[in-house]
Amino acid sequence: MIKGGAQYLFIFSLVFMLACQTEIKISEDADTNDKGEITDSFGVQYHYENEFSDSEQLKLEIWMDEVYAATQATLGSYPFDVQVHFFTSKHSSRPVSFGLAKRKDGINSVSLYVDPTASLEDLLADWTAPHELSHLSIPFLGKSSKWFSEGYATFLSRQIMMDMGYYTQESFDSLYTTRIKEAASDYASDELTFIERSNELAANHQYSSMYWGSASFLFVIDKRLRAEQDKRFTDILIDYQVCCRLEDRNLKDVIQSFDQLIGDSWCNDLMAIYRNKSANEALKSFQ
Ligand SMILES: [Zn+2]
Repeated sequence: MIKGGAQYLFIFSLVFMLACQTEIKISEDADTNDKGEITDSFGVQYHYENEFSDSEQLKLEIWMDEVYAATQATLGSYPFDVQVHFFTSKHSSRPVSFGLAKRKDGINSVSLYVDPTASLEDLLADWTAPHELSHLSIPFLGKSSKWFSEGYATFLSRQIMMDMGYYTQESFDSLYTTRIKEAASDYASDELTFIERSNELAANHQYSSMYWGSASFLFVIDKRLRAEQDKRFTDILIDYQVCCRLEDRNLKDVIQSFDQLIGDSWCNDLMAIYRNKSANEALKSFQ
């Protein structure tokens, strides 16, 4: 879809970008409707922390407008503005060498270190921006819940990229089953719990195994939702933005909210396994 119609995409994105700029203006001040009620309209705002030429800035904004629109379509409308900070990174083989999401003092931001010479096509195919934007869909959970946060964003990054046309449900399932199975070999412990082993992997800088292994949590919940409720986990998240995103404070709150929206105790029950059972036991369906 994207690869065959770059020109069309460019024109479409330009129009879309202009539409978004209008939205940003509205979001500077909460808009009100005829009845005087606040109609929240939030958007994305761009900040250039290093030197980028005009054409590079245009390319980055077309890219991020598309990723942001796919994020909102998949995870729901965020009840806040998102600040995107662009930094240059020329010494990497990847179009985006590093990303960082922050939720601090009520400001939700994403920092992206990008190769300014990377093509729009390569930028769109990179998972980093969808990963960082998906972190913002729940509150900051603290360092002790890093395993959950990273598994969460690892699962959601390619859910967003499904909306962008990069994955089908089938290719998504195939990729995640393969990568979680590979990670499961690093979780082969009967002594440590899943969470203890995740913390150990992070301490050993084995981030890839920790991220993919932890993505199993949402992969399992999503699969069950599809089988038993004909829903995807992202359907839960769309409602979550409205009811709970600005209310929840920690992982316990988030799990409780997800379960309320699901109408069952699936997340709490699975969390008990990840917290109390061995790492082997938690990932046994992937071994
Ligand atoms: Zn992350």
